[in-house]
Amino acid sequence: MDIVGNVLPQVLKDEATEDKGEMARLQSFVGAIAVADLVKTTLGPKGMDKILKPTGPGQEMTHITVTNDGATILKSMYVENPAAKILIEISKTQDEEVGDGTTTVAVLAGELLREGEKLIQKRIHPQHVIAGWRIARDVALKRLRDISSENDINSQEFHDDLVKIARTTLSSKLITSDRDYFADLCVKAVLRLKGSSNLDYIQIIKLPGGTIRDSYLDDGFILKKQITIGCKRRIENAKILVANTAMDYDKIKIYGTKVKVNSMDKVAEIEAAEKEKMKHKVDKILKYQPTVFVNRQLIYNYPEQLLADSGITVIEHADFEGMERVAAATGAEILSTFDAPERSAQVLGHCDLIEEIMIGEEKMIKFSGCKKNEACTIVLRGASTHILDEVDRSIHDALCVLITTVKNKRVVWGGGNSEMQMAAACEEEAKKVQGKQAFAIEAFARALRQIPTIICDNGGYDSAELIQNFKVELQKGNQSCGLNMTDGTIGNMSELGVKECLRVKEQALMAASEAAELIMRVDDIVKCAPRKRERA
Ligand code: ADP
Ligand code: MG
Repeated sequence: MDIVGNVLPQVLKDEATEDKGEMARLQSFVGAIAVADLVKTTLGPKGMDKILKPTGPGQEMTHITVTNDGATILKSMYVENPAAKILIEISKTQDEEVGDGTTTVAVLAGELLREGEKLIQKRIHPQHVIAGWRIARDVALKRLRDISSENDINSQEFHDDLVKIARTTLSSKLITSDRDYFADLCVKAVLRLKGSSNLDYIQIIKLPGGTIRDSYLDDGFILKKQITIGCKRRIENAKILVANTAMDYDKIKIYGTKVKVNSMDKVAEIEAAEKEKMKHKVDKILKYQPTVFVNRQLIYNYPEQLLADSGITVIEHADFEGMERVAAATGAEILSTFDAPERSAQVLGHCDLIEEIMIGEEKMIKFSGCKKNEACTIVLRGASTHILDEVDRSIHDALCVLITTVKNKRVVWGGGNSEMQMAAACEEEAKKVQGKQAFAIEAFARALRQIPTIICDNGGYDSAELIQNFKVELQKGNQSCGLNMTDGTIGNMSELGVKECLRVKEQALMAASEAAELIMRVDDIVKCAPRKRERA
């Protein structure tokens, strides 16, 4: 930068600040590593849980969250550091893409940066580091794919794999002691989907009360609503009209009209006119000939009575999600206008039986034998809402992973096996590469090896010794060895049944290395308020 006289030319506005070069990079490293360290202790089957408690007015104890899920922890954090934000983002993406490995991805990115920082201190230029990491990532990815295996989707082996994968995912969660029970439940639910990846068909209902073991899988779809009084409570061979429409007379509500009248007669006239409009709408609905009418919005007394008189069962004020699911499961279309009764056959949903059931103390409506027979419901019971929420998150993770596995079919051994294999591949590669990049490749291997190291540490085992034994075991050619987290030894993953979905590992590897690269490239952080719009 040219210095004019003694004055630095001022580019940025007064309030804006700029961190350059080393300082900028240091800031990014510190932020990212801090985030990774925060979730580090939750990694693995012996990982700890965290309590998240929002502060500020109106945030009572009921809002606290107890969780082990990386994405949940990171999502709820509000950070200032840009690099930290990037890590939070990749964890969220991991959650949305594959559902599991959310801690792994953040920890791996953090460990990569920790190694990166050391390389920079050794005066290796970031571009060399990045080039090395890219080579390492490709080698690791290739090894990961090579060690994965695939089974025929209809075979018993594949089914067993699914159960093992679900168990592995659940083993780091609160419900680890009941993981067999839940793994089985999740696999059954996912297999019902018959290859579809629409999680909407699997409804999760949380009902405080009972114990976790009272949770069960119900085939059919359960809506957390009650049937309106005066209607039939049991409908066989139901034809369902799902609607999102206002049943009162809209105009007055929408325009907030004030009506001035000089006598009570006039009020009666308006009322009569309104009633007439409601009746008109109900008549239009009746033309579709449904036997059940589900509406997103309230249905007022008068239309309700009209519908009930025509023998139609009315369910009002269904929540949006619930309604969409009813539509999906029964094959209905959600209507808001009723001008095409000739399309009735296409837009009405079908199911064999609708009935009111009791779960715990609550009345609910069950739709069985739905047109799209994939639909099912997992009813979760547990002592408190905090437990239920965490069980819900865990089940959701497991379901996502299972769906991904059904799509991708390839699986790898868990318990740190894949990370150790990838690290070994990187180290072999480093021996072949000339120049400084080799350091970066070795660093990549060390970062990968940190994952099993942290899993060991979290279990209270001697990681230095275990990881060395692990290396030796792999070297000997024992392809399925891995961490036995009950005994603190190196065990056989095929005996222990610890398997994981290849996609989860792939995604974690790619996302973590991309994020680390992105952060590594930074050499300037400019902080300033967004430019104000200037008047033309
Ligand atoms: P994430 O949020 O990244 O999924 P987890 O806390 O679920 O983090 O931990 C996942 C890691 O724990 C994986 O690397 C997996 O191989 C390992 N793991 C899970 N269950 C076991 C087990 N029973 N024995 C050994 N390792 C396990
Ligand atoms: Mg997990």
